[in-house]
Amino acid sequence: MKSARMNFSFRPYTLELKHVFTVAEMSRSTTPVMLTEIEYDGITGYGEASMPPYLGESQQTAAEFLSKVDLSKYENPFDLETILTEVDAIAPGNPAAKASVDIALHDLIGKLMNQPWYNIWGFNKNKTPYISYTIGIDTPDVVRQKVKEGEEYKIIKVKLGKDTDKQMIETIRSVTDKPLTADANQGWKDRNYAVEMTHYLKEKGVIYLEQPMPKEDVEGNAYVTAHSPIPTIGDEGVQRLADVRKAQGVYSGINIKLMKSTGMREAYKMLTLARALDMKVMIGCMTETSCAISAASHFSPMVDWADLDGNLLIKNDVFTGTKIVDGKVALTDKPGIGGTKL
Ligand code: MG
Repeated sequence: MKSARMNFSFRPYTLELKHVFTVAEMSRSTTPVMLTEIEYDGITGYGEASMPPYLGESQQTAAEFLSKVDLSKYENPFDLETILTEVDAIAPGNPAAKASVDIALHDLIGKLMNQPWYNIWGFNKNKTPYISYTIGIDTPDVVRQKVKEGEEYKIIKVKLGKDTDKQMIETIRSVTDKPLTADANQGWKDRNYAVEMTHYLKEKGVIYLEQPMPKEDVEGNAYVTAHSPIPTIGDEGVQRLADVRKAQGVYSGINIKLMKSTGMREAYKMLTLARALDMKVMIGCMTETSCAISAASHFSPMVDWADLDGNLLIKNDVFTGTKIVDGKVALTDKPGIGGTKL
C-alpha cells in the first residue's frame, strides 16, 4: 500500500422532519445526526450516525465516542475486520456512532476499488424490492393526507401499538387497496390480543408485522409468531449479529438497520446468518440523509422487504444517492455507497 494515512472527521447536523413523527412511545420533529468523513490519498468516504433520542445515543455521546477513533494508525483501509473490531472495542453500545465509521470506510473502499458495494458483494442491482412508505399514528384526516402524499409508493407501512390500531387500518383501507405492512413497535402487552390482531391484519391485507410485543417478552413474541398467519419481524428485539441466532423461533425474520448493527460489515453477516437459519430479512432505517440510506440500499437486492424511506421524510437532506423510482429502489453505478454530498 501507499504511505497515505486515513484522516477521520465528524460534525453534528440536525434533520428536520416533514411531519411530526409518532410511534407507539413518543412524537418528535427533528432527528440529531453526526456526519463523518474519512479522507485517504485524495479520496473521501462519507458516513452518518442517525440517533433518534429514544435509542439513547446523542450528538454528545457520538462526539465523545468518535473523538477516540484514530484511523491514522491503520496503513490499509481494506483491513475492515481489524479496523472495525478495534473501533467496536473502544466502548460498548454506541451502535450508530460505530456505523458512521463503518459506512465512511465502506464508501472509501468502494471508491478505491471504483465499484459500488452491490457489485463487490455480488448482488444483482436489478433485483431490488419496492419500498414501503411509512405512516405514523395520527388522526384520520392526517392519515388520509399522508396516504395521498405517498401515492407513488406501492406498499404502505402502518405504525400501530396504540388504542387506535383498527381505526388506523380502517382509515387507510377507506382510501387505498395497496398492500400494507404493520409495525406495533412493542406496543402490545397482551399476547392473545396480539394474536387476534395478526388475524385481523391478515384479513386487511397486511403482509407482515414488526415487533408485536416488548422485546423483553421473548416468550410472548414467540407465542405470537407461532400463532400468527403472517410473518413477524424482530426489530427492537434484534440489534446485532449475536441476536440473530436468539431470534430464531421468536420471530419469522429480522429487520436489519445499519444504526443498530454498527454498520454494513455486521449487517452483511446478519443477512448471511439469517438466510442460513431460513429466516426472513428486511432492511430498515431511521430518519437519515441519503448517505446512510444509500449505504443500506446496497443490501436491498437480497432482502424480502425494504423499508428505506428515511430520507424521504426529511426536509434538509445534504446528500443525493440511491433514488426510489416508481416505488422501487434504484441503485446507482457510482462507486462506494453511491452518495454524493450536496
Ligand atoms: Mg420497526
